[in-house]
Amino acid sequence: MSCKIRMSASGVHLFDRVSGVNVLLDEVPVPAEFVSRAPRYLSVALTNACELHCVYCYAPKHAAALDRELVLAWAAELDAGGCLGVGFGGGEPTAYRRFAQLCWDITKSTSMAVTFTTHGHRLTPELVDSLRESVHFVRLSVDGVGATYERLRGRPFAAVVRAAGLLASLAPFGINAVINADTIGDLDGLAVFADEVGACELLLLPEQPTAATSGISDADAQCLVEWAATTRTGVRLAISRTGLEAALPTAETIPGELPLDAHMHLDAAGVLRPHAYSPTGVPVGASIMEAAQALRETQ
Ligand code: SF4
Repeated sequence: MSCKIRMSASGVHLFDRVSGVNVLLDEVPVPAEFVSRAPRYLSVALTNACELHCVYCYAPKHAAALDRELVLAWAAELDAGGCLGVGFGGGEPTAYRRFAQLCWDITKSTSMAVTFTTHGHRLTPELVDSLRESVHFVRLSVDGVGATYERLRGRPFAAVVRAAGLLASLAPFGINAVINADTIGDLDGLAVFADEVGACELLLLPEQPTAATSGISDADAQCLVEWAATTRTGVRLAISRTGLEAALPTAETIPGELPLDAHMHLDAAGVLRPHAYSPTGVPVGASIMEAAQALRETQ
């Protein structure tokens, strides 16, 4: 096993992108001048393009896509700055031109983990073959099961079951599920689905308010918390940072880690933001590390 080392304010962090193992040596103090300035993880919207029309989608609807050479240069800079992983999304990242080649290039030229989140409907055996040894984890978006999924996503549920089968041959993968009034009744079904297709994680994403939707209701949020606290499933449960996690016995990845040390988001127009829903950000020029520093100074 060869580990990447990140010097964090909480200690020395060792990470192996192949096994996904993290070890934090929190008894080793790191002087401030040696603390890594890159975020631990960067999510990247490669493109706003997506052929689905989920009403709760937060991706901007104007056409935009990142320049491939800039993404490669920024990845090298982040790697040197102590970042442990990049996660491609969108839009739909598999709609990005030469997506598999980009993943390969970053895996070969950096020591970061490469991951992506997909709706799965563009996955073919050929695309999966071309991604082999280029990605370390995949997230498959499955909002509800059966008829709920088909109503929300406008695609056959059988097609996403096939996509899960393809991913199982590629890399460890998890299921992402937006939880809202439509999907709250499908939580048991989602846990069974995740278990049956061999996913290692079910990530619960309480719906966030967008221009088109009001987000998860208080009553459904309460149901979600109660379900997560009492359900028994063989699949690891995770929840996005929305405030609800405080009501659950969640494990903090790095105790005391500041939000911008943990994560930043790069949108498809090249603006670096604290997270995907943030209205403010810093346009990235030649250096993403300079943009990261400027973003820290705005907070
Ligand atoms: S699949 Fe994802 S990116 Fe596409 S419309 Fe739905 S939520 Fe948006």
